Amino acid sequence: MNTHPHLPPYPFCPVCGGPLDRTEPHRQPCTRCDFIFYHSSSPCMGALPLEDRRVLLARRGIEPFFGSWNVVGGFLGYGEEPLEGLLREVREETGCACRVLDFITQNADTYGEQGAALLNSYYSVELLPGDLTPQDDVSELRWFDIDDLPADIPFESDRRALEVLRTMLR
Ligand SMILES: [Zn+2]
Repeated sequence: MNTHPHLPPYPFCPVCGGPLDRTEPHRQPCTRCDFIFYHSSSPCMGALPLEDRRVLLARRGIEPFFGSWNVVGGFLGYGEEPLEGLLREVREETGCACRVLDFITQNADTYGEQGAALLNSYYSVELLPGDLTPQDDVSELRWFDIDDLPADIPFESDRRALEVLRTMLR
């Protein structure tokens, strides 16, 4: 069981402050009120902009893994429609609108020092004409041949998604 204080199981009920049952780390009934605290992976959307056999990647301008390459995308907002979140992330990080092409893959990974659980969904997209400008938490955008990707892609989920994409582009 993971014991980092930022990760479940948590000690206290967020509703009444009573002690939470810790028998099951990801389903914690309150011992005082009727609240049950369910813990789930955080959903993330990844966009794979395609141009022939090239894919656009983003260089990270924030920690963790500052300066390394990752797939354009990020965390879904609470209650946000997944594909709307995908379009939002592409717009926020590249300055461009896009059109969704295909579902590529879905996988689980962890994020940051604490190892918070993620659920990642990847889609290929077509960027619409516009000024491609790195922004938000991105320092650079670059097109890579799918057979010649950078070595420094720290997230295993991104590497797995790019491998699925490479297989699909054969
Ligand atoms: Zn409670």
